[in-house]
Amino acid sequence: MAWKTLDDMDLDGKVVLTRVDINVPVENGEVTDATRIERIAPTVRSILAAGGKPVLLAHFGRPKGKVVADMSLEITRETLAQVLHANVIFADDCIGPVAEAAVEALEPGTVLLLENTRFHAGEEANDPEFAKALAALGDIYCNDSFSAAHRAHASTEALAKLLPACAGRLMEAELGALEKALASPEHPVVAVVGGAKVSTKLELLGNLLGRVDSIVIGGGMANTFLAAQGIDVGKSLCEHDLAETAREIMADADAKGCTLVLPVDVVVAREFAAGAASEVVAADACPPDAMILDAGPESVAAVSAVFEAAKTLVWNGPLGAFEIPPFNKATDAAALKAAALTKAGALLSVAGGGDTVAALNSSGAAGDFTYVSTAGGAFLEWLEGKTLPGVAALG
Ligand code: AMP
Repeated sequence: MAWKTLDDMDLDGKVVLTRVDINVPVENGEVTDATRIERIAPTVRSILAAGGKPVLLAHFGRPKGKVVADMSLEITRETLAQVLHANVIFADDCIGPVAEAAVEALEPGTVLLLENTRFHAGEEANDPEFAKALAALGDIYCNDSFSAAHRAHASTEALAKLLPACAGRLMEAELGALEKALASPEHPVVAVVGGAKVSTKLELLGNLLGRVDSIVIGGGMANTFLAAQGIDVGKSLCEHDLAETAREIMADADAKGCTLVLPVDVVVAREFAAGAASEVVAADACPPDAMILDAGPESVAAVSAVFEAAKTLVWNGPLGAFEIPPFNKATDAAALKAAALTKAGALLSVAGGGDTVAALNSSGAAGDFTYVSTAGGAFLEWLEGKTLPGVAALG
């Protein structure tokens, strides 16, 4: 899909309504992690450098269409100013006279932050009148919030259709990485699909089966596939009611020439606790009183071999219960292998969704992946092959 970027727009002297994701964690009135603010800095700086006036639109928490004092975006103002090295003015409404006066008074080189869009019910309702009131404030619309693009809200969808629209730098990077990984990838493509349950990943598996050459199935999900083949998985997390679905997925993969890579050995324990006594057994030899909590070393070697043969990797979900050592071993080893291949220029690797960012961060591998998406739900919907309204509206 083609979309415009900031480079295609004449920004000089223009008010650029910029949809960002600054839904940062806050504790005791302080921003505790500024990552999301740091990630929008290139966009805001590009707009300022081109003589434009950035006016930031964002949501914060879930106020459900009402003004909720402790969900005011004002709390982010100081951190924004520090990260952007710019003067940031705050207006306590995102539409109407307060916002209009603030835009009117905006000096070049200054950033305007408007109050939480979700204080108005029209935001989540994608209300055309609310979108018109937003559009009245600016000349150009820039969406830098891929993480909110799976929602058709006024500031992500309806507004994009009312003004000349473009993608911000973060959106551009995210879309570029995702297109390279799945829309027009270099084959062979391998996907890692891990995590707790098959039931939450059915659409994802359905979309990937027709697109990738192999899928490594890991985590609790793999137990369901093992059980579906008649293997006793003891007390493991397992969706026995999805056995038939798992068999259908295996048959579908076969028909489409997609190899499913299941664990050949597993790490089992009697308790789900840090440092619990554990042992490696063959995938079909889980003792009846034990549970599978990670993939074993032979499985990791098999996964590494698949990575070595691949040109492109898409990763969602851990291979084991990675938060509880030692059950992080397979996830860490496979992630570090992917990172090393990427660093050597042999692999394009894109990861994201749910716990994946935490898993790759804790393994130390994230920095060497080609792209790690922090977009959560939007990344997953994209992997599921869905059209994201906020992206479609930019086309
Ligand atoms: P998801 O949110 O579906 O990506 O699942 C991630 C969660 O799955 C993490 O909290 C992991 O601890 C958990 N998980 C992965 N493998 C297993 C396993 N074999 N048994 C129990 N939980 C697991």
